[in-house]
Amino acid sequence: MDENDFKKKLIELKQEVTHRINAIDRDIRHEGMSADWSEQASERENDEVLESLGNSSEQELEMIKFALMRIEEGTYFQCDKCGESIPTARLELLPFTAHCVNCAEKIEQ
Ligand SMILES: [Zn+2]
Repeated sequence: MDENDFKKKLIELKQEVTHRINAIDRDIRHEGMSADWSEQASERENDEVLESLGNSSEQELEMIKFALMRIEEGTYFQCDKCGESIPTARLELLPFTAHCVNCAEKIEQ
């Protein structure tokens, strides 16, 4: 896969995540609260799940935008932290990653 393939893949992913965020937003703003107390409680729980889903999707979207920017800058195949090249196999699995395996492990710790 070359830069253009990754770009195509990232644009597709971006659309997918944007759709997901919009759908979650619609679910959270469900109109008409139910009168029943127990139903309201379960709706609140459901909202919390949706919100955390929404947050991780927002994060994913930011990473996708950053990756697209890195393609434009010509730095897509370089680790954002150490400058080493990121293996294509890793980018095929995680097209929006900005870090090599070593740096990604350090960041997660
Ligand atoms: Zn690195």
